[in-house]
Amino acid sequence: MDISVVVPLYNEAESLPELERWIARVMEENGFSYEIIFVNDGSTDDSWNVIKALSQTNPAVKGVSFRRNYGKSPALNTGFRRAQGNVVITMDADLQDSPDEIPELYRMITAEGYDLVSGYKQKRYDPLSKTIPTKLFNATARKVSGIKNLHDFNCGLKAYRHKVIEHIEVYGDMHRYIPYLAKLAGFNRIGEKVVHHRARKYGKTKFGLDRFVNGYLDLATLWFTGKFGAKPMHFFGLLGSLMFILGFIAVVIVGAVKLWNMNHGYNYILVTDSPYFYLALVLMILGSQLFLAGFVGELVVRNSPGRNDYEIDEELNVTP
Ligand code: UDP
Ligand code: MG
Repeated sequence: MDISVVVPLYNEAESLPELERWIARVMEENGFSYEIIFVNDGSTDDSWNVIKALSQTNPAVKGVSFRRNYGKSPALNTGFRRAQGNVVITMDADLQDSPDEIPELYRMITAEGYDLVSGYKQKRYDPLSKTIPTKLFNATARKVSGIKNLHDFNCGLKAYRHKVIEHIEVYGDMHRYIPYLAKLAGFNRIGEKVVHHRARKYGKTKFGLDRFVNGYLDLATLWFTGKFGAKPMHFFGLLGSLMFILGFIAVVIVGAVKLWNMNHGYNYILVTDSPYFYLALVLMILGSQLFLAGFVGELVVRNSPGRNDYEIDEELNVTP
């Protein structure tokens, strides 16, 4: 099969028939063999019935329905586990992404050798309250992930080589960082295509402004686990040691100054009257706590079943 289109959706009943017709038309015009996997993320409207009806007229329509709402990432992951096409395309259900982009995305994966191509909604039809924070968000994501050529990490329209989706696990709210997940899994050829974006036609957006707070927290998590997930001591140990040493030096100075003044007959203050003593104390305590966190982290890693799972690309003449 050429293409799997994975569509996560939550209460998008009005958009679905139009979306299905449009995708089917593009596929037929280009002669692709395809499937559309609708992942119903616990919709409370008529979405699932609409999907069932669509599958009656188009055998390429497939679906999974969650009993409750989990979020876009769990929906995508579930679709990925079931996708069979050589190229997997994800697309929002709200008709903001255009299926007309599919043939070019497909070509970029199959002919130009990209592992992942992300859409870029250069001209967006979203409120300003969303577009401005989005710019900031993408700038940070570029910096942290080191994927310098992406402008729109969270674009719902993306294309993947099948191998990529086999090796990434999208959970929580991590759909915002799929390119970063792919990079962490060793897929380097990540490209971008400017795509047309349209205003939402039916229904309303499912994400509020908390997306930005959560987005940054998730980015921090990915950065940390990507860099130190297998060796937490390198993070906590370094930070803890630095703080402890700084605190220790400060305590020694505070004490030495007092002794020196005392011995030379100057006025001196008790160590416990100096504010620096307390700062130094706090540094030393926090430093040792961080160090301990590093040890605990190492114990966790030692027992994690995935500690020796590596992304193996190919093997030659070895028996594993
Ligand atoms: N979505 C989902 N589960 C959720 C929230 C959203 O499957 O809990 C789907 C939603 O139906 C849509 C896509 O994710 O197909 C993108 O959502 P939305 O259009 O609300 O986001 P925006 O375009 O505002 O970023
Ligand atoms: Mg949308």
